[in-house]
This record gives sequence, C-alpha cells and structure tokens, in this order.
Amino acid sequence: MRDASPGTPAVDRLTELLVAVEAPRDRLPLLLALADAVSGVDARRAAALAHDAAELALSLADLPARAEALFVGGRCADLNLEHGHALAQYDEALRAFEATGDDRAAARTLRAISFVHDTLGDFSRALDSQFRALELDERTGDQGSQAATLRTIGVVYSRSDDPRTGLDYYRRSLALATRPEDAIERGKTLNNIGINLKNLGQYAEAHAALVEAHQLFVALGLPLQQSATLNNLGLVLEKQGDAAGAERTLRAALDLSESTGYRLGVAHANLALGRLCLAQGRHAEALLWLTAALADCERYRLKPTEYECHEALADYHERAGDHGAALRHFRRFHALEREVQTEAARDKLRALTIQLELKAARRETELERERQGVLTRANADLDALNVALTEANLQKTMLLDQLERQTYEDALTGLANRRRLDQRLADEFALALRHGRPLAVAMADLDHFKAVNDRFSHAVGDAALRATARLLASQVRHTDLVARFGGEEFVIVLVETDDDAARRVCEKLRAAVANHGWTAIHPGLSLTLSIGLCADTSVPSHDRMLAMADRNLYSAKAAGRNRVVG
Ligand code: GH3
Ligand code: MG
Ligand code: MG
Repeated sequence: MRDASPGTPAVDRLTELLVAVEAPRDRLPLLLALADAVSGVDARRAAALAHDAAELALSLADLPARAEALFVGGRCADLNLEHGHALAQYDEALRAFEATGDDRAAARTLRAISFVHDTLGDFSRALDSQFRALELDERTGDQGSQAATLRTIGVVYSRSDDPRTGLDYYRRSLALATRPEDAIERGKTLNNIGINLKNLGQYAEAHAALVEAHQLFVALGLPLQQSATLNNLGLVLEKQGDAAGAERTLRAALDLSESTGYRLGVAHANLALGRLCLAQGRHAEALLWLTAALADCERYRLKPTEYECHEALADYHERAGDHGAALRHFRRFHALEREVQTEAARDKLRALTIQLELKAARRETELERERQGVLTRANADLDALNVALTEANLQKTMLLDQLERQTYEDALTGLANRRRLDQRLADEFALALRHGRPLAVAMADLDHFKAVNDRFSHAVGDAALRATARLLASQVRHTDLVARFGGEEFVIVLVETDDDAARRVCEKLRAAVANHGWTAIHPGLSLTLSIGLCADTSVPSHDRMLAMADRNLYSAKAAGRNRVVG
C-alpha cells in the first residue's frame, strides 16, 4: 500500500492501518479518511482511493459513505483540473446526500459544484448551484454555511460585472457572520465589499470596509489576507488622492505578499506602485516597478495581470517619447487581452460541452432506468402471462381430461364406453394369447327394459341403468372392465378368468341384479339380467369373442331370460 507519494503522519498512520484491517466494513471509513487526507498531498492517488471507497461503499450498500467518497472523488478531480469528471462525481454525491437527507453535506456539495462552474466561467450555473445551497442552508439554519454561500454568490455576481448585486449579497452575508468563529468569513466579505465599492466609485465607504477587514485579519494573524486587503486599500487611497498613504500601504502589501509567497499579491502591488509612480511623473521608479511586475506575471503565468502590465508599460514609453516601445507593449497588451478573452470564451465553451455531456449522461441514466422499468413491467406482464398460461394450461388439461372422459366414458353411467371397450378388449385378447392366459367376455342385457321406461318413466330407467352399472362394477375385480355397450347392454371383460370362473362371476352378477333392492328407485320396480358368455380365446379375434357372447345372450333370452349362457 505504501508508495512513492509524500505522506503526512496522518496519511502514514492510515496507510498502515489499512494494511492491517481486512473486514470490508472496517476498511471503508479508513479508505475514506485516507482519501481525504491524501487529497491535500497527492490528488491523483486520492482520486484512486476515493474511487475504491465508493466501490466498497456500493458493495456494502452504505449510501452515506458512498456519497462522501464521491464528494472526495469530485474534489480530487477538481484539483486535477478534470472539471467534467468533477461535476459528474459531485452530481452523484449530491443525489446520494439528498437521498440520505443530509442537507448540510448537500449544501457543501452544491458550493463545490458552484466553484467548478465558476472556474469554467459559467456564472449562471455557478449561481444556480449557490442558490440551491442557500435554500438548504436556510432549511438547516446553519448561519456560517449561509454566510459563506451568500458571499460566494456575491463573488460570482461581481465577477460577471454586476458589482451592485454582488454588494447586496456581501451585505447579507455580513449580517449573518456575527459569531466569533465567523471572523474569517466576515473579513473576507468586508474585503469583497471594499473592492466592489471602489469599483462603484464609493471610495470613502470602500476605505472603511477595507480598514475593518484589515483589522480583523491582523487580529486573526492571517498575513496573506492582510496583504490582499492592503493592496485594495492602496488603490482606494490613490483614488482618494492620498498618494503618500497609497504608496505606504502598497509597500506594506508588497512586503507581506513577498514574505508569505503570495505571488499574485506581489504582482498586484508592483503594478499598483508602478502606476502610482507613473501618475506622479516618477518615471524611472515606475519602470522598475512595472518591469518587476511583468517579470513576475510572466514567470507565474498571471495573464490578466500581465496584460495590465503591458498597458501600463505602453503608457510609460509613450510618456518617455519611445513610441516604438510603446507600440510593442500596446500590441502585446492587446494580444494578451484577446488571449485571456479567448481563454474565457474557451472556458465557457468547455463549460457548455461539459454540461451537454452531463446532460447526455443523465439522460442515459434516465433511459437506463426507463429501460429497467420497461423490463420490470415486461417481466411483470410475463409473470401475469405465465399465470394466465398456467391457468389456461390447467383449463386445457381439464378440458382434455373431460374430452378424454367423453371419448372413453359413458356419460350416463360413468362406465367405459364402446371405444374404450374395443381398445381394452383388443389389448387383453393379445396379452391372453401371448401369455397363454384365460380371458372371458360377458355380454349382459337387462330384461324387458323397455317396459321399465314405459311403466315408470325414462328418468327411472336412467336411474336403474346407473344403479346396474354400479352394481356390476362392484362385483368384479378392479383389473376387470365393465363397459356400457349401448342402451341397456353391458359388456364385462374378465381378465385371467377361465370358463368356469367366468360362469361363476356371471352368475354372481345375475343374482346381484335380481336380488337388488330396486324399489329404492321406484316402488314396484324390479329387474333381471340375461348374460351370454364366451371364454374361448382360440377364436381369430376379440370381435369374435364378443359375437359369441352376444349369440349366447340371445340364447339366454330365448331360454327365458334371467340366466347365464356360455
Ligand atoms: P329384452 O328383454 O328382450 O331385452 O327386452 P327389452 O325391452 O329390454 O329390449 P328392447 O331392445 O326392446 O328395448 C330396450 C329398451 O331400453 C329400449 C329403450 O327404451 C331402453 N333404453 C335404451 N337405452 C336407454 C337409456 O339410456 N335410458 C333409458 N331410460 N332407457 C333406455
Ligand atoms: Mg333388454
Ligand atoms: Mg337390448
């Protein structure tokens, strides 16, 4: 885990801990803290750590930690000048913070987003984010955060050439920054107020604000902030006609800027002192200040100040009568000014491009979500369809069963019908032949059944048929088959039953019908059964067995009915 990047004690300690800890849930806060600590030292390594933390948080479904990791990732990307990536990460962090209801963190993220837009020269978006942050600040009642947001809004307005609106926000910020811990914020705001008032030509008020800011920074022991305020104060004093005071103040600003290594402060002080000398006709001194300012600007690439230096130097050379040198500086001034403007334009273009990319990415996410939704709905539909299909299948099976029953069953009695009889008898005949086992077929016919219908009714006839079916089925083995052949005729297939046994079974059947309590169906009802039997499997086909049984039935009828012949 240790690498070449320079560490701080905190970074070293966290790195060691991370090596020792294995449980993902324990590693997560360490990774986050390390990413945060490293971001001030090595933004690229911090970005990688933040990415790891975000992934880990995702796998642990730890939304607050993921939001924080994304925020740190955004800051790292911002530090690495990857503005598009920074915005994307902040954006995701913001949504995660919003989802967890962490308003303070959401406000902090919105301010960070605003700074990126501001860097890209996209003031309207910067403002938009600030206002959203402000709304959250107002909701949480965090005064310090609110003051910071209001001041930043002021800066954005001021930078986009609207010093009056900027001033309004600065004043609102100032009114909120009243607690002792808000002193730095208060000083910064007073300095900002001073600059705007100077730009609006209200020098006396600008002076007062800057003096107060300076006093605060002195009390807080912040030399860099002091030097910035003194530079502004010097410019105001010059405008107020106090050249000596201005020079004194600007020299103090220069000293402080140099001692703190604040290069922009040094360049500003040199330039201001050069202009001041030039205005007073102290040309030699002016040249020294301006040359020093230009050298600093070129060295540290402070372009906006650099072109101001060329402008002042063109002025100097013109006054000195060197028109050639004046023209050279003037041309350089214009070229740089254009460059800065082009850069600003390019920044704006870049901001626009990034916005478009972001929008496309968001749209893509939405589409993905929609697709997911469509899929979910389709899945639900499919599930419903499956249920319907299962139901339909069930119904189909039931219908098929019913159809099968109808195909092979007699509707009135529930016995096998002629079709089933034909199949079974053919099969049993083949089996009996193959295995040399006996088989008997009986054909039974109710005697004088027509008279039952006639005497009692068709319904009584039907009931009698159903009772006969039950009676017959209950008297044979379950491997035997009782079928309704048609009308009041039944066929009984007696498997593995020889002639004698078959005759005994048929006799049992006949007796059962004759002795049945038919009067339960209707008073006066009685029935008998005639049976023709065939147990001869030497015949050529099962049909022949049936025909022989039928012939014997005819004989039974002829012999007086209620008997078995075969
Ligand atoms: P036999 O003793 O000679 O068999 O006389 P039978 O009256 O039983 O014979 P026949 O063939 O003349 O009459 C059969 C009767 O069976 C005719 C019909 O009314 C009756 N029958 C046939 N099928 C049904 C049915 O499904 N329900 C009712 N109720 N009667 C039926
Ligand atoms: Mg009959
Ligand atoms: Mg009949």
